[in-house]
Amino acid sequence: MPAHTTHSLLDLPKHQGLRLRLVEELRAKGIRDQSVLKAIMDVPRHFFLDQALAEMAYQDKAMPIGEGQTISQPYTVAFQSELLAVEPHMKILEIGTGSGYQACILDQLGARVFSVETIRALHRSSQILLKHLNCKAKLFVGDGSVGLPSYAPFDRILVTAASPNIPEALKNQVRTGGHLVIPVGELSEQTMLKLTKVSPTEWSQEAFPGFRFVPLTGEYGWSV
Ligand code: SAM
Repeated sequence: MPAHTTHSLLDLPKHQGLRLRLVEELRAKGIRDQSVLKAIMDVPRHFFLDQALAEMAYQDKAMPIGEGQTISQPYTVAFQSELLAVEPHMKILEIGTGSGYQACILDQLGARVFSVETIRALHRSSQILLKHLNCKAKLFVGDGSVGLPSYAPFDRILVTAASPNIPEALKNQVRTGGHLVIPVGELSEQTMLKLTKVSPTEWSQEAFPGFRFVPLTGEYGWSV
């Protein structure tokens, strides 16, 4: 059952207070981008969780969303969003819609968001929730490890599941000057890579170790 059908979409002062505290925690952990911190403040994370977990929505923790999947830790969402360096109207592809929370954060940052999820039940519930929230992100069901070629190129591509390597298909769908942010490594731990396409054939790379995501499946993912 979609998280939001188990409780009403009420954003009370107590939720806003908890969100403010979370934003301060993220700032203390090194998130500097004011627009990202504002988006975290503006998007009620408890709407994306089952009511039983709503009380914990503003802890800096990943949480289960059903189907064996998770909504990422707020720090990770903020860190990936900061790495993307989003500017209004940019075209962004997210791989791994999950709850739809990260897609809403990117929408709040003014991007034109395309998000792909492989699990139909998660796609459906996030589709319904995002409509309620007037979030404009366009959601697709399918194997995002191959990207979304019919909508390419993208200014940014964000992968929110652990990848065994950097899929060539995704690199091909980033426009020159754009970024691909992707956690790559073993299933036990990944390094967050920020790749910048400096020319049609050249990339620069920054690496940030110490992340743990659920596996990317599909053609360029893990067979789990
Ligand atoms: N961004 C999500 C959010 O805000 O809730 C959290 C993403 S969760 C950590 C990773 C998601 O990636 C899961 O929902 C999983 O089903 C999805 N996934 C894994 N492999 C995929 C693939 N090949 N294509 C699309 N989605 C995939």
